[in-house]
Amino acid sequence: MNFKLNQQIFSEICLNNKIEVFVKRLDLIDPFVSGNKLFKLKHNVDRALLEKKNMLITFGGAFSNHILATAAYAKKKNIDCLAIIRGEEYSELNPLLTLAKEYGMKFRFVSRKEYAKRNDNKYVSELIRKYKKALIVPEGGNNKLGVLGAEEILEKQDKSFDYIICPIGTGATLSGIVNSSNSTQKVIGVNCINYTKDINKNISQKTNKNNWEIINEFNFGGFAKFDNVLIEYLKKFKLKNKITLDLNYTAKMFFGFEKLNERMYFQRTSKVLLIHTGGIYGNLGFNYLYDLDLPYESN
Ligand SMILES: *Cc1c(COP(=O)(O)O)cnc(C)c1O
Repeated sequence: MNFKLNQQIFSEICLNNKIEVFVKRLDLIDPFVSGNKLFKLKHNVDRALLEKKNMLITFGGAFSNHILATAAYAKKKNIDCLAIIRGEEYSELNPLLTLAKEYGMKFRFVSRKEYAKRNDNKYVSELIRKYKKALIVPEGGNNKLGVLGAEEILEKQDKSFDYIICPIGTGATLSGIVNSSNSTQKVIGVNCINYTKDINKNISQKTNKNNWEIINEFNFGGFAKFDNVLIEYLKKFKLKNKITLDLNYTAKMFFGFEKLNERMYFQRTSKVLLIHTGGIYGNLGFNYLYDLDLPYESN
């Protein structure tokens, strides 16, 4: 796996108040073990291998980037993998699950009621009892080892940025970035789902710094929600910057960033780093569900 990450590409999105904007292209790491997911998985998988486990068990929706990333990474690391998928109705494989299956992932489709128990101690212990040699990775890779990995997203030279912006799902990525940021840097999470209270709590538990802020205004209604404005934004962004965004996370982040910039949110002459967290194959799922024609390859 190629860990050469610092493909910071200067982007001319906005220079009106003389801010300098860079994008950290985690989307270029690997098309499937995409972006932030690699960081959240790597220590979990290392742990599994160290403990001589032969299997990962993880959880996700049927169109989850985490599921595809886990399948592809498990294959690279030569470890088996079972995904517990929310929703029995999805047992017919969509393009994302088809890819995951090609990587050797096995699936168990469970009712929403059962899925809701995914973090309950009792449910997890039963799984462990049944699959003795498995390591359980929570939904989205949102555990301590996931955050530890996300701490590696920022590199030494990134200390020069005044603002660092990333999208938020579970908040594990933001937590890691906050942990490794300087307290003089401001870390902004653009909430792309709708559970603000949970996210706040989750992040507060994983960091003791307070140089971060969650912006809720650009979630477009929540997880997997979007409108035509967002679709047009994603397409124009691709034409203008030659960067593919995913509809659920990075499109919302860049859209929000541009709006904030129009409002002079950022101090003049400051330096801003946006984290492209990858996930562009997620667009395949949107194309499949809504008959869209979103791009899903990085170039
Ligand atoms: C999963 C995902 C996120 C969310 O990351 P969290 O660590 O769960 O907040 C952000 N961006 C992309 C592209 C993702 O696939």
